[in-house]
Amino acid sequence: MYFRIRDFQIPHEHDSLFISEQNAFNTRHMGNVITIMILMVGVLLIQNQIARNPQIEEYDHFYTIIYSLILTTGVLYLLLSRILKVSLSDRIRKSFFILFLYILTLLFMGLTYFDLHFGNELSGYLIILMFLSTMVWLKTKEFAFISTFVFFLLMLSYLIIHEFMNIGLHQIVQGTIYYCLAWVLHLSTSSVRIENFLNRITMEQQYEMLENESATDPLTGLYNRRSLKGEVQKELSRSERSGTFFCILILDIDHFKKVNDSYGHSTGDDVLKELSTILRNSVRLSDMVFRYGGEEFIILLPETLIDDAASLGERIREKVENYSFSGVRRTVTVSGGISQSMPDSSMDLLIQKADRRLYQAKKSGRNKIISSGSSEN
Ligand code: GH3
Ligand code: MG
Ligand code: MG
Repeated sequence: MYFRIRDFQIPHEHDSLFISEQNAFNTRHMGNVITIMILMVGVLLIQNQIARNPQIEEYDHFYTIIYSLILTTGVLYLLLSRILKVSLSDRIRKSFFILFLYILTLLFMGLTYFDLHFGNELSGYLIILMFLSTMVWLKTKEFAFISTFVFFLLMLSYLIIHEFMNIGLHQIVQGTIYYCLAWVLHLSTSSVRIENFLNRITMEQQYEMLENESATDPLTGLYNRRSLKGEVQKELSRSERSGTFFCILILDIDHFKKVNDSYGHSTGDDVLKELSTILRNSVRLSDMVFRYGGEEFIILLPETLIDDAASLGERIREKVENYSFSGVRRTVTVSGGISQSMPDSSMDLLIQKADRRLYQAKKSGRNKIISSGSSEN
């Protein structure tokens, strides 16, 4: 078998995400696994009560105690994990989980001691090692500590109390083989889990990069806010060179929040898409339509004077007012503000001016396009 040790290193910046994923995985799976464990140990407990073995009857209460303790720990874990799920940070939840694993380990090793004493077997030891290596998602360092702790407890029983334990060399050989097997299982499951984790992160980063590089908005297909700056900059230098003017028209849907509230967010999205189509169909090929924010749009109108921009704005306003948007029974309207470039304009100034006029349009009753201010030209 071939392991890439490099893959067991989680890059430091992903550490907290890794812990939170581990917690999510362990929480998801542990609920079921611990429930099954409770049922199995419950059956053993009942069996222990009704089918008493006359040869070891005097020791039955040892088993009753250990089974009951495992059962109680399992139930407590299920209850506590439900409470802690909502209230604690990932690191504390993880510490709680590791503490639970150590307690469970001790209980299963207690069971192993009884098994060795009464019947020469290592099933409790094997179960806990297999559980730790395959059912739980632990970092290799954490697994190293806890599995070695289990192995150490077995060795201790051989070295110190072997007469009472009835434990021989062949069981130590067997226990060592199980311990190595647990390592093989841990490394193989761990490498698959970590590889999946890292692949997912790489894919997410690539997706984010593509999104950042893209110039269009995924919902409407319009140019996005990111590409606005470059386009306005181009227009500014072009108008400087050729002495022409261009305009900016900002549009904002009126009371869009009410559309979302009454018809749902996805109908709201449809309105945004349909409005985008209206806007694209209302302008010339050389004009550019941007989705500036949630329900705000900017139209960049090269070589256009403010009066022409105003009549375009008015045409759009009317079209929208008369359009029946799918799934919406009320009239949807837009308000807008227009600004025209000046010889020393900057993008921020142009947008600010158009925005002020949009604000005036909103204040004076909405469903309006304003292209000249009372306090400005
Ligand atoms: P006003 O006439 O003053 O502009 O009122 P308004 O409700 O349109 O403005 P406000 O800024 O209060 O709310 C904008 C709403 O637009 C809130 C937000 O939920 C919604 N919105 C923003 N982006 C999206 C989107 O992508 N999809 C949907 N469905 N709604 C969006
Ligand atoms: Mg708005
Ligand atoms: Mg609005």
